[in-house]
Amino acid sequence: MELESILLPGIPAKRPMVIAGPCSAETEEQVLSTAHSIAAKGIKIFRAGIWKPRTKPGGFEGVGVVGLPWLKRVKEETGMYISTEVATAKHAYEALKAGVDILWIGARTTANPFAVQEIADALKGVDIPVLVKNPVNPDLELWIGALERIHNAGIKKLGAIHRGFSSYEKKIYRNIPQWHIPIELRRRIPELPILCDPSHIGGKRELIAPISQQAMDLNFNGLVIESHYNPECAWSDAAQQVTPDVLDYILNLLVIREGVQ
Ligand code: PEP
Ligand code: MN
Repeated sequence: MELESILLPGIPAKRPMVIAGPCSAETEEQVLSTAHSIAAKGIKIFRAGIWKPRTKPGGFEGVGVVGLPWLKRVKEETGMYISTEVATAKHAYEALKAGVDILWIGARTTANPFAVQEIADALKGVDIPVLVKNPVNPDLELWIGALERIHNAGIKKLGAIHRGFSSYEKKIYRNIPQWHIPIELRRRIPELPILCDPSHIGGKRELIAPISQQAMDLNFNGLVIESHYNPECAWSDAAQQVTPDVLDYILNLLVIREGVQ
């Protein structure tokens, strides 16, 4: 055990791997201001959705390709790696062309094998990390099938993101964690890194800390947390985003117990 965690019990010696940033890229100013604050907290990987698959028409569906140069500026000015969601082969080509470092496949896309296969085909011969969120429905085989399609395209740096599962009954969680599903994924593919997305599981900022702690206790390999410089005014997922200050506070309170299974 490292000295810091003996001297300061409860303060982890090191943080988990964290990907943080707004749900959506909204304006250049919002992306850059948020990114600079997040980078100042020691975060190394920035997230922002520029193509947003929304449940109903008429919502904000993302700024699209105009947001890619904003992400590029984030990388140049802060040194953070940049990541975004791709839902079609065209998104994948555009993101690769713009120098995005990490791609993720969203829950609605993972549930669609044709879309996943088209993305996989677009990534053939490309060396880029790809993270696959669980499908919206609690179907482990569909999740593994999407991971296999990306793996079969030759992607070596593959990871999964647990973001919970939809249900008609909405009680505490926006998406029910059903932790046994990602735990079973780990049993089936032990070498696969699995991150947890407490923002989309909880659906409200108050739940980010306890869900993150639970993920750490279950030995998840990292966290994806939505952070926005003005969460209440966010154009998507306003209830579940936290300021970079609150993000830092949450991460500092996480207890990482070594050896807990
Ligand atoms: C997101 O990460 O902003 C997102 C849309 O998440 P999900 O695919 O998990 O709903
Ligand atoms: Mn979101």
